[in-house]
Amino acid sequence: MRIDVLGIGFDNITMDQAVAEGVRLMGTPGAHYAATPNPEIVEVCRGDEEARRAVNGADLVLADGIGIIYGAKLLGTPLKGRVTGIGFAQGLMARMAENKKTLFLLGAKPGVAERAAENLCRQYPGLTVAGTRDGYFTEDEPVVETIRSSGADAVFVCLGAPKQEKWMERWGEETGAHLLVGLGGCLDVFSGDVQRAPEVMQRLGLEWLHRLMKNPGRIGRMMKLPLFLLHAAGEKRERK
Ligand code: UDP
Repeated sequence: MRIDVLGIGFDNITMDQAVAEGVRLMGTPGAHYAATPNPEIVEVCRGDEEARRAVNGADLVLADGIGIIYGAKLLGTPLKGRVTGIGFAQGLMARMAENKKTLFLLGAKPGVAERAAENLCRQYPGLTVAGTRDGYFTEDEPVVETIRSSGADAVFVCLGAPKQEKWMERWGEETGAHLLVGLGGCLDVFSGDVQRAPEVMQRLGLEWLHRLMKNPGRIGRMMKLPLFLLHAAGEKRERK
């Protein structure tokens, strides 16, 4: 069952359930994709119909970010909990390593996906990275063909939102992969270029603050968070 938060339908599932569903989709014929929207993306989707369609069209829509949890609660329709994109990716890779599934890493600046691949293969023995490609390309077809010929079962699409969701909706089927996952800046973390917040901050739902302190230039983007909560409060009043 999906829970609507300002126009985006979120799957009301736990991390374990999300990973199990991802594994199931990876073994199901056809292309499937997962989106991991945070409040900033929900706000973007309010003003971008194409983005909203791409996000809501995903087979899995996971609540990445504590703001979504607050928003859903405020609306009186709480979600089971946060399912971060990065945690989902880690859970999937552990299962892929056991099942000998192959992964393609798409996105981030040149060199990042290669370094991420090296680290991930060390962290998840048995995982095969079938190929990598940076996210700064002008023509889609050659990239799609590279993924297709790699024979990857899954693709992590890290082009930033909502570009990655639109890309997965448009090209997913043609990549030949069974599961594509939109993961924003995750390759920068897997490569070691960007550090995640300390565990205590993650637990307190303060990962956004850590990102802001490391990169104050994000303030403009982050202002979407209070806006999102304001919109959720407004929606709540209207629903009454
Ligand atoms: N990116 C890309 N191609 C583009 C624009 C962005 O590959 O045309 C990458 C960028 O290098 C970064 C990621 O997409 O690795 C977006 O990171 P951001 O932190 O903005 O994503 P978030 O996790 O906040 O959604």
